[in-house]
Amino acid sequence: MKNFFLILFLCFTYSSVTVAAPLDSILTIKGVVYVDDNKNGRFDPGEKRKKNVLITNGRKVVTTNKRGEYEINIKKGQIVSVILPDSYTYNESDKWWFNSKLLQVNGLNQDKVENINFGLVKEKAKKKIKVLAVGDIQVGNREEVNFAGRTIMSELALRNDYDFSIFLGDLVNDKPALFKSVQKMMGGLQKPVWAVYGNHDRNFEGEHEEQIDSYQKIFGPATYAFFKNGILFVALNSIYPVGKFGYEGIYDKSELEFLSGILSHISTNQLIVINQHIPLAWMKNKDDILRILEGQANVLFLSAHSHTVFQSFIERAASTKIHELNVGAASGHWWTGQRDWQGNPLALMQDGTPRGYFEIEFKNNRYQIKYKGVGLSEENQMSIWIGEDGEHIKRAGDSDNRQIIVNIFAGSEKTEVNMKIDDGKWMPLNKKNIPDPFISRIKSLQKEGLYPNKGSRRSPYLNRSSRHTWLGTIPETIKPGLHKIEVAAKDNLGLNASKITWFWVE
Ligand SMILES: [Zn+2]
Repeated sequence: MKNFFLILFLCFTYSSVTVAAPLDSILTIKGVVYVDDNKNGRFDPGEKRKKNVLITNGRKVVTTNKRGEYEINIKKGQIVSVILPDSYTYNESDKWWFNSKLLQVNGLNQDKVENINFGLVKEKAKKKIKVLAVGDIQVGNREEVNFAGRTIMSELALRNDYDFSIFLGDLVNDKPALFKSVQKMMGGLQKPVWAVYGNHDRNFEGEHEEQIDSYQKIFGPATYAFFKNGILFVALNSIYPVGKFGYEGIYDKSELEFLSGILSHISTNQLIVINQHIPLAWMKNKDDILRILEGQANVLFLSAHSHTVFQSFIERAASTKIHELNVGAASGHWWTGQRDWQGNPLALMQDGTPRGYFEIEFKNNRYQIKYKGVGLSEENQMSIWIGEDGEHIKRAGDSDNRQIIVNIFAGSEKTEVNMKIDDGKWMPLNKKNIPDPFISRIKSLQKEGLYPNKGSRRSPYLNRSSRHTWLGTIPETIKPGLHKIEVAAKDNLGLNASKITWFWVE
């Protein structure tokens, strides 16, 4: 941060300051993209200039010339950022963007700012990269900051087996004052962190267009992109303010223009990963973005906001399907529910998925996904419910009592699920979306006043189906006693998991 202000200071010293300009006036930003060989955060004589690098103001996309120079007009308050080219990263986290709002802090009025230079650091290309996609940590008070600190962030802080993480919005719960705490925890991670803007990251003190300022001051632009290992990663602002506190899932024109602007520079086969808070399926003008993406063969959407996990495969008339992965919430069901021995709430998501995040491994244009429940082993990919109470069946009972319900957290319409009882044959289970039985049990325990206990917060569950449950029936011929059951789930998106457990037959 220190260097950043030094650069600003230099800007003011050298740029031509002209007439006072009103707030919505146009500012011209000029600078150079260079390779920061000595990593001092400054463009030094002799350092290589980089041509053909994309620069954006969140709407327009321009390219650096042969001398590595760019020039872009912005409205005061907009942010200019560099779209990191393949095999390059930024030097320090605050060097890939320039927020013109910060100029006003110094009370200067000008219409041209020069020497907004972006330094790139060369990076080795890898065979594959692993990305952690984290949804809604959504902390609303100090206690919830502690929940996040002791669960998701504590787990991530020890990991270095990935390349970067992306937090898909709702970092806070309408509490911009907590951004600094979230940033501090992110700063404790060993790998770079990218952030996405969510509806609960707005600051309601400002007018519509100012609601985003507190977020952008800390985390940088809400609309940006970067290339990594041949993949284009794009972050979009999916929040469109309406009324005093309202919003809708709408892509503003500027978002669509930004995306089109980058697409004109890439091949139709390049994998694009679009990161946004609100699920694509819930966006009011999703057809607009699908039209822009029509020519692109490989598109993955990552989203959050639903506090559940689900996957959609969007049909396209003239191209391959678009895959959307809604990654769930690190806060689970908003940090509610029975607390464990460390004081952390269960917060099981409405769809029966434990609090967690996704790991996505990219290799060329292909990727594999894997769910990771916080604090759970990586083998833990499903829950199994048997009979009436989850663990036993009445042999003489009706067919309902012999039901088995399996919830595969990362399961989708592509997933095949089979079960085997004792040493019997493998039998297929059928996908049918129903309310998760563990959620139903928590609901009835809450109704009876047994859950949650004192000091824990009630989980306000609705009667909604999970989008990844599979059903089967234990054969009528099963003998009384204890039985082993094995469930295996597999698909071509990365799932290859099994679980073994035991249940009683009366
Ligand atoms: Zn949200």
